[in-house]
Amino acid sequence: MNAKALEILKTVYGYDAFRGPQARIVEHVIAGHNAFVLMPTGGGKSLCYQIPAIARPGMGLIVSPLLALMADQVAALRQAGVRAAALNSDLPPEERRDLWSAIETGGLDLLYVAPETLLRGGVLERLSRTRLSLIAIDEAHCLSQWGHDFRPSYRQLDVLAKQFPDTPRMALTATADEPTRAEILAHLEITDEDAFIAGFDRPNIRYAIEEKDNPRAQLKDFLKRHQDESGIVYCLSKKKTDETAAWLRTEGYDALAYHAGMDKAEKEANQQRFQHGEAVVMVATIAFGMGIDKPDVRFVAHLDLPGSLEAYYQETGRAGRDGLPSDTLMLYGAEDVALRSRFIEESDAPEQRKRTERGKLDSLLGLAETAGCRRQVLLSYFGDHCEPCGNCDTCAEPPKLFDGTIAAQKALSCVYRTGERFGQAYVVDVLLGVENDRIAQFGHDQISTFGIGKEHDSRMWRAILRQLIALRLVAVDLAGHGGLSIAETGRAFLRDKPVLMLRVPRAPRARRGKAASG
Ligand code: ADP
Ligand code: ZN
Repeated sequence: MNAKALEILKTVYGYDAFRGPQARIVEHVIAGHNAFVLMPTGGGKSLCYQIPAIARPGMGLIVSPLLALMADQVAALRQAGVRAAALNSDLPPEERRDLWSAIETGGLDLLYVAPETLLRGGVLERLSRTRLSLIAIDEAHCLSQWGHDFRPSYRQLDVLAKQFPDTPRMALTATADEPTRAEILAHLEITDEDAFIAGFDRPNIRYAIEEKDNPRAQLKDFLKRHQDESGIVYCLSKKKTDETAAWLRTEGYDALAYHAGMDKAEKEANQQRFQHGEAVVMVATIAFGMGIDKPDVRFVAHLDLPGSLEAYYQETGRAGRDGLPSDTLMLYGAEDVALRSRFIEESDAPEQRKRTERGKLDSLLGLAETAGCRRQVLLSYFGDHCEPCGNCDTCAEPPKLFDGTIAAQKALSCVYRTGERFGQAYVVDVLLGVENDRIAQFGHDQISTFGIGKEHDSRMWRAILRQLIALRLVAVDLAGHGGLSIAETGRAFLRDKPVLMLRVPRAPRARRGKAASG
């Protein structure tokens, strides 16, 4: 390890050792390379740019989105004896002059600046005559046009690679899924080899995902394992949130609701009860999230599919902040997939954005349908990795696989023969040869695929179709009504007929319990 970096770590910060990937990152940047740093909040990103900025000759330039953040950092650094300052547009002229003179005479180690200030009237020009040790772009996800925190001026930071080609560039963020990450790297001209991603694992959280079969029974069974503990149950709609909370109260739980339709006082009261209560079940929409800092949330259940894999990670991540074992359960069914797809298709977003959203949904389905370790799938989405964890449902009880080649062919043909516009339930009925008016009306009781799937029951067919969707052989809902069609890879599959292993759906826990007890 670079001796100077260790020395700074000790004398300036008072720490004995680097944490996780910090050492590798610091060394990499001190050597003059670019770096993309993706670490969860609290992971210790600041040191990753501050130490190389101090260790290398010249002044470190830090682009940061918020004045308040900058002020905190600057104050802390100064306290530790580091020459740090923030250049902001409303400095009085005299201070501004002094600051520039410090910058130009090599009197500063670190300069914080907002992107708007940096890009305005001559600042870049003036900085280009100063020696810079590095340029760090904090909260780099702000440059993603599709993200929550899009900040137009962040997009113009691409000039930095042009104007300072020889200065190491760093981009740091806590929230970047695959597409956002790619966008940041491309925009700031940082390559994959310079990406450092780590610290996303929450080993004390157990992950489990089940098919939505009888959601209330499944939830009840889950909660039974968490008597006398507090947790969160997420629902998609306000109505379902209210209904579920009311139902849980009749079941004897201390359940509260939280959603955007409630008045402020009531929401606050419920949040307080949850925060300080002993065994409170908060039934909530995603409106409940910001500012929860209860360390002993023992469980998180999702009664509906979350918005994305990232949302799933964030929401389950509210469990177990205290590091003690915590439990999660997500229920999902094909209706959820259809509903999410419809949200995407019916939104006013431009096509490119919709494509990104579809990709995110696919990733979430990939997690739900994986036969491998959930944690591995989850972490790989963030570019992080782990060994099979032993603390998720698929590790605990690996799903049984079967040769699904024939079943997939039958399902795909049935989707094709019915015109690639009907939803899952209809396709399953045709496969099973169900006689009903709707099928008769379309003449689908006359086609070759009517009743060719009698070897499986409807539960099995639903599972097969979900996996075909997750594997992207079948596409959902181009018309906006949950209609299935054959995707490009599905056509290739029908042509080449490679062996396809699928997982046998697992009986929901509630039902397995019953079967076991007779
Ligand atoms: P982030 O910016 O990733 O959210 P910070 O840089 O603010 O995280 O660091 C989070 C906390 O961890 C801070 O209190 C920081 O002082 C502490 N920390 C960072 N690195 C180390 C380390 N190597 N040893 C001990 N504490 C550290
Ligand atoms: Zn696992």
